Amino acid sequence: MTQHLIENVRAHVESHYPVLYLVTHEETEADALIVELADGRKIMEWNMGRGMVHFDTKQPLAAWCDLAAALDNFLDQELDNHFIVIRDAHLGLREQPLAIARLKSLIHKILADKEGVATIFLVSAQSFVPPELEKFITLFDLPLPDEAMIQSVIKEYAEGYEQVMDDETRSKLALAFQGLTRYEIGQLINRGFQRDGNIGLEDLDLVLTEKAQIIKKSGILEMLTVNEKLEDIGGLEKLKPWLRQKAKIMSDWPAARAFGVEPPKGVMIVGMPGCGKSLTAKATAALFNLPLLKLDMGSLMGKYVGESEGNMRRALKLAEAVSPCVLWVDELEKAFVGIGSGGAGSEVATRLFGYFLTWMQEKTKQVFVIATANDISALPPELLRKGRFDEIFYVDFPTESERADIFKVHLERRKQLSARTQLDRLAKATVGYSGADIESIVKEAIEQAFVDGGLALDNERLLKVVAATHPLREVMKKKVKEYEDRFAEMKIKPAS
Ligand code: ATP
Repeated sequence: MTQHLIENVRAHVESHYPVLYLVTHEETEADALIVELADGRKIMEWNMGRGMVHFDTKQPLAAWCDLAAALDNFLDQELDNHFIVIRDAHLGLREQPLAIARLKSLIHKILADKEGVATIFLVSAQSFVPPELEKFITLFDLPLPDEAMIQSVIKEYAEGYEQVMDDETRSKLALAFQGLTRYEIGQLINRGFQRDGNIGLEDLDLVLTEKAQIIKKSGILEMLTVNEKLEDIGGLEKLKPWLRQKAKIMSDWPAARAFGVEPPKGVMIVGMPGCGKSLTAKATAALFNLPLLKLDMGSLMGKYVGESEGNMRRALKLAEAVSPCVLWVDELEKAFVGIGSGGAGSEVATRLFGYFLTWMQEKTKQVFVIATANDISALPPELLRKGRFDEIFYVDFPTESERADIFKVHLERRKQLSARTQLDRLAKATVGYSGADIESIVKEAIEQAFVDGGLALDNERLLKVVAATHPLREVMKKKVKEYEDRFAEMKIKPAS
């Protein structure tokens, strides 16, 4: 917790604000803050599990009672120079009109007491402020430990285990531990040490598992396991070195930052369907050796007022919490359909867009964004301006040599590439085919070869399947032309 935050809460206590709401997952941190501010005041506590308890030992002081009864008890007491701690406040107050009303009476009693001073602390993992109490309550979000704090926690544990740890390892671990509570960090270090008697970078897998848990519990982002490698992408020879350069920065971030490198923001990949945009997003996460979180813009859009914005805010916060990570925003254009149209959806889209832009601009956490989109005509021009993303790439239908590459990737992966495969002939026969088209040709030909008695896959069979296939480009002729004109007009950097 920063000194600034502690002083801010102290100032509120000293200025006689009646209710301070501490939103935190770390109960012990909240307790430590309350003790630090108490300065001789008596502390009384109610919590959901045990009712009235002794603040230091958490031992019950009486038989269990609900919050309304506890507040009734406080109302009858002399409260001069007291701190009243109500833990699990959201559980105790939600749908409890009597408790809310009594809390209000208690607040009025405190405010009416001109002589003495008491402060109520509501402590909870979620903020729940009943409208009746809104104007009496001040909210404080107790942040998760920052990098410097995490470093000192690691140091403390390393010393406890009598382990000498170099600065570089500690820095890298501290970055990976971001987004976790002090308690979670401690648990992970303990588990890492139990495994092999050492705390080090080999324990990063435990951190990933822990973060996957957090994502799963949230339900708005998906954490993908990826096996794709950059070598699985045929072509895109301009995009690949660009990604390799960013990978070096991401993997050695503490050193890069110390050298003055700006934190990478991310990349937008726009272009034709089935030409490797999603594949690139996955391969990037593997290349960076970071978890891949997928945010599906289509499913983010809620049907209630404010729901879409709330979802977006939660998703981005969560991505920050599990950083460093790659955040893949799929179908980016979906969220911004209708901006400026003046229609019903327009206002929501405009607000979402504003929020996303500000976040992209101001994010300090290591969240590398990969946004993919087909239809950029729906994207507001501000988003495409340089500075939001580090780069915008346009993925076109593969060229002849790229098609040869893509055939090679897919045949090789299925162990069907032989000395007799004529990649150049295949590439020549597939003008206008996408990567996805080529993949399905390979799959179909292999299937046919198997059904025909397990014959080796030859070129003729592949060419026959090609002849029988209609490439996506043909099926979507009109749309593709529209995209092409639009991309040419916007002069976006080609990925190959
Ligand atoms: P959409 O816009 O429809 O989502 P996309 O550009 O994201 O399409 P991908 O999902 O990446 O396309 O591609 C579909 C499949 O086609 C991939 O799983 C991959 O196997 C194959 N493919 C596409 N492009 C390439 C490529 N350049 N190299 C190798 N395989 C490719």
